[in-house]
Amino acid sequence: MDEKRVAIQTLGCKLNFAESAAMMQQLEKAGYRQVPYGQPAEVCLVNTCSVTGTADQKDRQAIHRTVREYPDAFVVVAGCYAQLRPQEVAAIPGVSLVVGADYKTDLLPYIQEGRQEAARILTTANEDIARFLPACARGDRTRCFLKVQDGCDYFCSYCTVPFARGRSRNPSVASLVEQARQAAKEGAKEIVLTGVNIGTFGRTDGSSFLQLIQALDQVEGIERYRISSLEPDLLSDEIIRFVATSQRFAPHFHLPLQSGDDEVLALMHRHYRRDLFARRVELIKAEMPDAFMGVDVIVGMRGETPERFESSAEFLRSLPLSQLHVFSYSERPGTRALKIDYKVPEAEKKRRSDLLHALSEEKRLAFYRSQMGRPLQVLFEHGNKKGLMSGFSENYVRIEAPWRADWENTVQSITAGSPNADGTALVPQSPDGN
Ligand code: SF4
Repeated sequence: MDEKRVAIQTLGCKLNFAESAAMMQQLEKAGYRQVPYGQPAEVCLVNTCSVTGTADQKDRQAIHRTVREYPDAFVVVAGCYAQLRPQEVAAIPGVSLVVGADYKTDLLPYIQEGRQEAARILTTANEDIARFLPACARGDRTRCFLKVQDGCDYFCSYCTVPFARGRSRNPSVASLVEQARQAAKEGAKEIVLTGVNIGTFGRTDGSSFLQLIQALDQVEGIERYRISSLEPDLLSDEIIRFVATSQRFAPHFHLPLQSGDDEVLALMHRHYRRDLFARRVELIKAEMPDAFMGVDVIVGMRGETPERFESSAEFLRSLPLSQLHVFSYSERPGTRALKIDYKVPEAEKKRRSDLLHALSEEKRLAFYRSQMGRPLQVLFEHGNKKGLMSGFSENYVRIEAPWRADWENTVQSITAGSPNADGTALVPQSPDGN
């Protein structure tokens, strides 16, 4: 292979994006270079997701499209779908290599060998997945996603992630501090800590998530950290109080509640009940009155009767949340949820989803309005869109301002004004206070 160009298509979460970047970094050491997907390339990598049935379908479409558009390329399929359904992926004509969770660091020799008659499959049984691929990906010039943990031991009844990514494991605190230092040297201002169940950080070596964030907080040059998502039972009072006093950890919480009804939480095999969740929200509010709280909710889970959904929606209405991330339950082969008899019809799932999306918009706008007149530290992103630029404050309020070249990738102190025309952001307050 004279030319060594690699085109990558990544599906799914930020963790997958970070891992695609890490796989590419390994190939770069052997002289390969990344080109935008769509441009000519000798190697293609499709990094898949398998969180829902729809995700699987999108994976298949992406793989078929890649082998069609790159008929002569060496096509690698990695990620959760590849780990869970390796034979299905290998059967797609044109695929050269199927890479499961434990082999993401081993692509090079197989790529160098070139295409074989049949696709090769590199996977381990899910209970044997043990390796950790370090990854830190640049989202844009100033932001990066640092993978701090992989895998999950929770086995929620609706979820296949523990089968695709194995048990919880983490690298050392010291190695992550080093990665953060390196990112700061390269110009990163904001780091988002990502993983599958990052509150379980420390299961590998007896350290803890609190120790990790205390150590990262000392890294000079990083202005802001965000914690991507923390299970409610693992978000301890100590973590909340630490974020409240830290100069670098943003008052921004992403909480996977999934249901506000205790019976549904029990059917989901979640590790808490709604009282505990309400206490966490109360403490965050008491310690950080302006914190942003985004909450994941699944609607239409098997067993979610109309009464249970109503009790969940009522619970959500009662809490001072800033936004809901609403997902419709998706049947996943091999999960325990399939044993629950009561099934929610698709049309009813959609009704519930629409209702919670509307509630989310109400809450987000109310939260934005509560920030009007406050000074916010906004990290403006790169780019001029029709004379405007935007960025997020420490507490995740989107601010839209007239574009200025000297504000790109910088943190500016802005007094928040009123919502923009479509309510998706606040604009800076004008000198007369409007
Ligand atoms: S905590 Fe539950 S939902 Fe989250 S990855 Fe683990 S098993 Fe899946």
